[in-house]
Amino acid sequence: MVQNAKSEVVRTGMKLVEQGLVARTWGNVSCRMDDGHFAITPSGTSYDRITEEKVVVIDIATRTYEGDRKPSSEFGMHADAYVLRPDIGCVIHTHQCCATALSIAKPGTLELTPAEVEALGGFALVGYGLPGSKKLWNKVSDAINSGASAMLMERHGALLLGATPQEALERAALLETYCTRALSGLEVESGEASFLTSRDVGTLTPLNIKNQTEFDSTEEQILKVHDAIYEAYPEFSNIAHLSTPAVSAAIIEGKTMPALLDDFAQMAGSDARLITNANDVAAIVRGLKGRNCVLVKGMGALCCAGNEADSNALLLLMEKACVTYWIAQRQGGVAPLPYLERKLMRYIYQNKYAKKAYT
Ligand code: 13P
Ligand code: ZN
Repeated sequence: MVQNAKSEVVRTGMKLVEQGLVARTWGNVSCRMDDGHFAITPSGTSYDRITEEKVVVIDIATRTYEGDRKPSSEFGMHADAYVLRPDIGCVIHTHQCCATALSIAKPGTLELTPAEVEALGGFALVGYGLPGSKKLWNKVSDAINSGASAMLMERHGALLLGATPQEALERAALLETYCTRALSGLEVESGEASFLTSRDVGTLTPLNIKNQTEFDSTEEQILKVHDAIYEAYPEFSNIAHLSTPAVSAAIIEGKTMPALLDDFAQMAGSDARLITNANDVAAIVRGLKGRNCVLVKGMGALCCAGNEADSNALLLLMEKACVTYWIAQRQGGVAPLPYLERKLMRYIYQNKYAKKAYT
């Protein structure tokens, strides 16, 4: 049981944002209120807009709720966790970068010592299921039954159970630390490893990249591209640039980057086109058709949205997508999400899910 469950849900959600473990409205948080109820974040609402009044209370036995605000679309996953684990008081679902990227890696890539597994309260990988689906929830239940309090859901994100919000938060941070370490060790070269920080995103993605492309576009080239994008797409009013080692690694592959993760398929599109000539403004504009992001050699990733919060969220998604793509390429490739599933997820995201984020 968690005292002041509703305010703990609000507070814990903000902590996830501060720690860069979630982007936009992805992820969700819940706390057990009493024997029969838990409080959970509302669906599709930006964390900084969630107040105690917007937190939804779910009856664990009937899985019903009162009021007209919809609970998180993963409420069933949280409910299952409270039934299966009477000892836990808090459940957190994140879309954290390195852990999510590693969810597509070959088994064994993430090596954990027995002490680390214990600190996580038990660890398990969970196979793919569409977000918010019974199929996913059932797989998560199996993982919980196998003794895990920290789980990595393939192509999606992490799930952490804790006796308290603090314990669940600590497990999220620990998992990210272990995954960051695993990533940095993936390709040990004799040369120096590049532990470069993305100033834009504030994340540290430790990729050992041998060759990096230059980001050498001029201010003039960038302005021309921005003008052309704003003219062609009136729905865009913010363009954020990302020029990190991970983006460089994606560009160097020399081809379109397919969506490998759920959130990228939803918000950015089914893939990100690569434009190899930064002077070819028309090609850059065409590359954004039906998409929010494009990769431009020499310029980096361009993330376009209707407001600043959304273009900033796209930066986090783009960084994570590039890290994931980098792992996939090192492992001989990973199949993208099925084409129709990518299209369907984007349709639902754009026409339903994304609409009320800032209300
Ligand atoms: P909600 O906004 O409905 O909680 O969904 C976010 C998410 O991450 C689903 O997996
Ligand atoms: Zn999710």
